[in-house]
Amino acid sequence: MGVPVYAFDVVIVGAGLAGCAAAIECKKAKLKTIVLSKLHPLRSHSGAAQGGINAALNEKSTKAHEFDTVKGSDYLGDQDAIALMCAKAPSVVRYLENMGAVFSRADDGRIAQRAFGGQSAARACFAKDRTGLTCLQTMYEQADRLGVEFLSEWYVGDLLYRDGAAFGVTAYDMRDTEFAIFNAKAVLFATGGYARAYAVNSNAMANTGDGLSIAARHGLPLEDMEFVQFHPTGIAQRGILLSEAARGEGGHLFNSENKRFMIDYAPGKMELASRDVVSRAIESEIRQGRGVGEKKNAVYLDLTHLGEDTINARLPELRDLCRSFLGRDLVSERVMIRPTAHYSMGGIPTDIHCRVRRDADRLVTGFYAAGECACVSVHGANRLGANSLLEAVVFGKTAGETIVKDIDAIELIQADETDARTFMNEVKTLLENNGRHSVAQLRKKLQDSMTKNVGIFRTEESLKEQINTINQIKKAFKKIRLSDNSKCFNTELQEAIEFSHMIDYTQFITQGALLRKESRGAHYREDYINRDDQSFLAHSFAYFNKSKKVKVEYVQVSIKDHKPQIRSY
Ligand SMILES: Cc1cc2nc3c(=O)[nH]c(=O)nc-3n(C[C@H](O)[C@H](O)[C@H](O)COP(=O)(O)OP(=O)(O)OC[C@H]3O[C@@H](n4cnc5c(N)ncnc54)[C@H](O)[C@@H]3O)c2cc1C
Repeated sequence: MGVPVYAFDVVIVGAGLAGCAAAIECKKAKLKTIVLSKLHPLRSHSGAAQGGINAALNEKSTKAHEFDTVKGSDYLGDQDAIALMCAKAPSVVRYLENMGAVFSRADDGRIAQRAFGGQSAARACFAKDRTGLTCLQTMYEQADRLGVEFLSEWYVGDLLYRDGAAFGVTAYDMRDTEFAIFNAKAVLFATGGYARAYAVNSNAMANTGDGLSIAARHGLPLEDMEFVQFHPTGIAQRGILLSEAARGEGGHLFNSENKRFMIDYAPGKMELASRDVVSRAIESEIRQGRGVGEKKNAVYLDLTHLGEDTINARLPELRDLCRSFLGRDLVSERVMIRPTAHYSMGGIPTDIHCRVRRDADRLVTGFYAAGECACVSVHGANRLGANSLLEAVVFGKTAGETIVKDIDAIELIQADETDARTFMNEVKTLLENNGRHSVAQLRKKLQDSMTKNVGIFRTEESLKEQINTINQIKKAFKKIRLSDNSKCFNTELQEAIEFSHMIDYTQFITQGALLRKESRGAHYREDYINRDDQSFLAHSFAYFNKSKKVKVEYVQVSIKDHKPQIRSY
């Protein structure tokens, strides 16, 4: 049977906040739009966001938010994109509110805002500690009300791309592994993050970075992949996130000597220094033997002084998480935490209108990216908490608006069923392979080694070791065997495909980290402990060459009002 080819104006891959925001704009402009998602939209990781979404609602201008974001990014963020995002933030929060998102209120009835790390004012708007869920439910409802067409449980495995132009995707229906081509003038990737590449992480199972590898396999660049954020407060050894809202509401961190050790690392901001700083501080305490717990590999997060009323009103989800996963009650007990891989600053490079960049100078026709999979770059080397939901909505919406503007000038490149061949062959090989390795074993090896070698602290030696490990895993992957060869909801097959993506983009993370011989934001080299603006105030653009080796170039950062300064908290 042939592969059906469906024609649309716009195909959006991903139904999290970025995908939904874009879909609403496209639908309002009456473009024939389809949203494909491997999950039900409401299962997207956006729904797991807890702490908040930033906006300078009650400040004279958005300039301070802009500066905090630039400083947080360790001056690697593009200042044109940051200025745009911060300027749009207040209207975006009101847009969400007008659509029906119920934010927590202050006593005077205004939207309540709490402090977050690295910020000079309390800017995080929140719905208790279920902010992402509130925003995603609202956006999805409104998209649905407008009649946006969603196809859930469709797995997208390839981009249709030729000579600098994108013209659709190949996907299969997860119910029966039947393939289809979605041919379109415009393709938007809103496929989310990739922290699942690490053994201990805060991300949903689905955050496997598929979109990035799919783009890279066509020779397109990935930007700043070496910058992976470790969130300070994951539940120790499990990684499940306890939101930064815990520290925003006044939570303290203690070591085994019962000392609030942040005094030694960031006396000005203490627990509310930026995430890279706090995560390194925690790991340093553990390394120096001042960790807590049986293996001394955690520190305490203490919220007991906040009182039950505050915790119930502002952090109920965190209380639930600690009860369910630790059997402990935040109201009366400290909990053990340790940094967890959380967020990817890098991704598919775009201009500030969300058009994907083909290299330093050229754009791809008909290809757009937004949300965590994209690198526009508003976070540079380190993201500030509560700036990511903001990014997803601002740039998801922007992507939709840009597509509406561009669409008439784009000619549809006709796809035919031969365009599905690459992905179909990939699936066929995986199903028929008769090797001896299991995906689960290889994935564990990759995740453990990424945590060990490309984690919070990195050295030339650890990064070279990781490149060798990935090469071994790549070879072994050619000899895997799936125990399930059926076509009905074959999750083992899907995990194998997702793992192949992980193998690809971990090479970008590692190679980028090896070549960046400096420390900046979340990227910390023990052998190059200083920031080096002379050589590395630049974005890395990395490509697969023909023999699938990663090549890295450096591209200028957009610097406007804020000249690089020493960064301390
Ligand atoms: C636990 C947690 C708490 C967080 N808290 C906050 C917070 O308080 N504030 C904040 O600003 N940020 C927070 N973040 C970060 C923020 O939630 C995310 O960066 C943001 O929501 C990403 O949105 P997105 O639309 O880009 O992607 P997602 O919401 O992750 O959606 C990705 C979509 O892509 C689809 N997809 C992916 N691959 C494929 C494929 N191959 N085929 C088909 N579909 C595919 C998925 O089905 C999904 O619909 C948090 C993150 C985590 C993990």
